Amino acid sequence: MIVVLKPQTTAEQIKKFSDEITSQYKVTVNTWVGTQSTVLGLIGDTASIDTDIIQANPIVESLTRVQEPYKKANRKFHPDNTVIDMGKFKIGDGSVTMMIGPCSVESSEQMAEISQRIKKAGAAMLRGGAFKPRTSPYAFQGLRAEGLYLLTEAKRNFGLPIVTEIMSPAHLPLFEDVDIIQVGARNMQNFELLKELGHCDKPILLKRGLANTIEEFLMSAEYIMAGGNEKVILCERGIRTFEPMTRNTLDISAVPLLKKLSHLPVIVDPSHAAGIPWMVEPLSMASIACGADGLMIEVHNNPAKALSDGAQALTPDQFDGIAEKIKGLAGYLGRSVNTLE
Ligand code: PEP
Ligand code: MN
Repeated sequence: MIVVLKPQTTAEQIKKFSDEITSQYKVTVNTWVGTQSTVLGLIGDTASIDTDIIQANPIVESLTRVQEPYKKANRKFHPDNTVIDMGKFKIGDGSVTMMIGPCSVESSEQMAEISQRIKKAGAAMLRGGAFKPRTSPYAFQGLRAEGLYLLTEAKRNFGLPIVTEIMSPAHLPLFEDVDIIQVGARNMQNFELLKELGHCDKPILLKRGLANTIEEFLMSAEYIMAGGNEKVILCERGIRTFEPMTRNTLDISAVPLLKKLSHLPVIVDPSHAAGIPWMVEPLSMASIACGADGLMIEVHNNPAKALSDGAQALTPDQFDGIAEKIKGLAGYLGRSVNTLE
């Protein structure tokens, strides 16, 4: 339930009103204070609330029941965009953030070569998998803790913040130096993992599941937010359809849809969506054109020798070309690109 308060309502009145509601009903109150108004989001057993009594309160402007099951992730509860402060740049403030790197972390030399090139091209973050969710148990599973060490080494040497995937809540202590924790498509509905990440204070990049609806995607974000961590970034990475010519089908309509339904930043991963290097450029351009806050792209210094997803990886030279086009498009749209150079 959304309660919009009148513009002149004081902080004291808001507190008194919230305390009254929480003591009377089994609900929690999410307060969003904007420049024009204050919005209270009531979550819990709102069916028992006597709406006539609430509406009769002189500080109340309007009251609406929210039908959607996602509340904290809902734009109705938080009309402004969520902006995540990464220190040197922000995600969700209208700027474009490129998170670039190999599918898997493989060696110190590989990470150094890629980091140096992508940073120069304009990437603001380094991606790379240490714990890899592979379809086959016989495929390369990632360097695990050593992979995290190599990522933090690259972060130290090149000043690039890092984003990498977690697969088990038990590994969380290893992620201390990680700047954004990624939840992969296969774990989008690993609810125990999501609950655990709800108690951590790092931003979470949540990828859409292989065959999940937009509502299920937002409910997974809600799991993290319900635990208290409101720094969630949504990532559209393609879904399974009947079309076999691409690895997945990029649901480009998810971008404006998620931006409308939610206040959370939205990024796109065209590499896993298409699975084809030449398609990464047009899909990246389309994503930024329709409002994505950033891109996650796989780049490898030697795609032919990559230990995972080499077939979809771009070379650093190819990424240079895409980065230039993205900067041009962002400029045309009046948006900045976050770089560390
Ligand atoms: C990845 O980003 O390396 C990855 C495994 O992606 P997804 O979870 O989208 O398949
Ligand atoms: Mn990959």
